Amino acid sequence: MRFVKINAADADSKSVKRNCIAKAYAQVDKNTETSQTTKTLKTYFNGIKNEIIAFYNALNKKTVASALVAVAALSLTMLFNINFSFAYNAFIGDTELGYVPDKEFVQNCVDNINAEFAQYVSGEDIIKAKITYVPAIIRRAAFTDAVAVCENIKSTSDVMVQAYSVEVDDIAFAALNDKTQAEDIILQIASLYKTDDATQVSFKEDVKVLYEYVPSVIVMDSAAALERLQGFTTLYNTVAVDKKIAFADFAADNGLEVEYLKSLNPKLGEYINTSDTVVIPVWKPIITVLTTDTLSYETTVPFEEQVTEDATIYEGSEKILQAGANGITAVTEKIERANGAIVNQTVISSEVVCEPVMQMRAIGTKERPSHVGTGSFMRPYYGKVSSRFGSRRSGTHTGVDICGTVGDPIVAADNGTVIFSGWSGGYGKVIKIDHNNGYVTYYAHCNSLLADVGDVVEKGETIATLGSTGNSTGPHVHFEVRYNDEVQNPMNYVN
Ligand SMILES: [Zn+2]
Repeated sequence: MRFVKINAADADSKSVKRNCIAKAYAQVDKNTETSQTTKTLKTYFNGIKNEIIAFYNALNKKTVASALVAVAALSLTMLFNINFSFAYNAFIGDTELGYVPDKEFVQNCVDNINAEFAQYVSGEDIIKAKITYVPAIIRRAAFTDAVAVCENIKSTSDVMVQAYSVEVDDIAFAALNDKTQAEDIILQIASLYKTDDATQVSFKEDVKVLYEYVPSVIVMDSAAALERLQGFTTLYNTVAVDKKIAFADFAADNGLEVEYLKSLNPKLGEYINTSDTVVIPVWKPIITVLTTDTLSYETTVPFEEQVTEDATIYEGSEKILQAGANGITAVTEKIERANGAIVNQTVISSEVVCEPVMQMRAIGTKERPSHVGTGSFMRPYYGKVSSRFGSRRSGTHTGVDICGTVGDPIVAADNGTVIFSGWSGGYGKVIKIDHNNGYVTYYAHCNSLLADVGDVVEKGETIATLGSTGNSTGPHVHFEVRYNDEVQNPMNYVN
């Protein structure tokens, strides 16, 4: 649409055709957009406006007004409101900004421009000439949108030029004269943090290239633009302090120059109190590249243990019935990064590759035997006595021999502590038990020894198996009883 300037003075001077409302509508229906028609319509509709005012004045004055006239007036008003609106055509110097609903609309555009470019140029430099407004009536569809009005405002400034601007969250940080180069910079920044296995790359901010008016100072070449967009922008946070602190100390603690911090907090004095708030700068990357990738690894699943009580094991002792083994789980995580730094880590799959094996541990509940003998002995083996205690032709037989079968269990004759378990000359494999009451017993010629030195054994507990080791003529156990190291006739102690 081409804009046509109509001075307010001109509009007022035109004669208003009061009796041609119908004709005016006929014109509107044609809806041509030539400047002449626009101009004519404006003139006609000033007339309509006056007609409507006149109708209402008439209705107020005359209580008996024609119903038809009232209906016609209302219909006319409705038709007008649906299709047309009062507007201003705004100008800076000779440059038309567009049709706007009110002056505030233009002021908002100016404020936005100033806010966006304050870091590069002052608002006064951008808007040099006065804004003028020409009243108008336009079709509602003919309003100029805010973006176009802003661009028109910028076009009036000699510090603004048209270029391909890289906008980040609607703020232009750098601009190039070449569109392809501007678009390529966005791709280059995205690729900075793209890892080989990245599945997604995006920007946290809204990043786009627009052909628009920007301050000429931000038009730069590719290399400079790339460097600028990898830089930081300053945000301002308001913070409180935990305890009263000197302004200079606060500045030092935050790595800020005192003068700079003072410029952000002109009202603060030498000390900052807990009731004060302090404005501090926070530097944020202009563009944040968000990437997503996955990480796969294996992790160990520790085995569990089941503990059971076992009445066949002595208290304080235990036995591993089944050894535990750790399992393996394959884990895949989704890693989300912002400019390379991990900001979120989520497990997306976790699969057991190898189940852990439960450890089964039995702990003893059996009461430990006393290491002190009861004073009475039982036979270590039940069998035929082949040789009694006492004198022989060859000397004294220091115990009794009981015949049996190789491998049969030999039991302790009474509670006690094993003091010897091994080979001893003519005894062959022998176990000696001290009953800690003056008595010691021997079990000789064994096939195998099942108790170790230091073991506390219970009366009747298996300690060895019957054999024929050492000075022996056949399988038997030589059972010997000593009291204070003097051999006794075992048959006096067993039944
Ligand atoms: Zn013997």
